[in-house]
Amino acid sequence: MLLIHCPYCEEARPEIEFRHAGEAHIARPADIASLTDEEFSRFFFYRDNPKGITFERWRHLHGCARFFNAARDTVTDKFLVTYPAGEAKPDLVEAANENAKGAT
Ligand SMILES: [Zn+2]
Repeated sequence: MLLIHCPYCEEARPEIEFRHAGEAHIARPADIASLTDEEFSRFFFYRDNPKGITFERWRHLHGCARFFNAARDTVTDKFLVTYPAGEAKPDLVEAANENAKGAT
């Protein structure tokens, strides 16, 4: 069973409690009405689909119901770190070191 750590509840819960909510850190244009159709479609429809580490929004739907962000490896399906929505992308090297400390 895949466990996902909710940064608000501060515990790992089964993945069935969560819902994927798309790519994280998508910046909304300041003046969306001034965009061309091509610029708008790029903002609204185009998303990264990397093989490797990706940053995603998740929602703890059957828990606290709050949105948060996660760094996940799409190859291994492992969550590297989760963090509250609105925070900057974490330093993944530092996060890996923190996880290694917690595992010992
Ligand atoms: Zn939660």
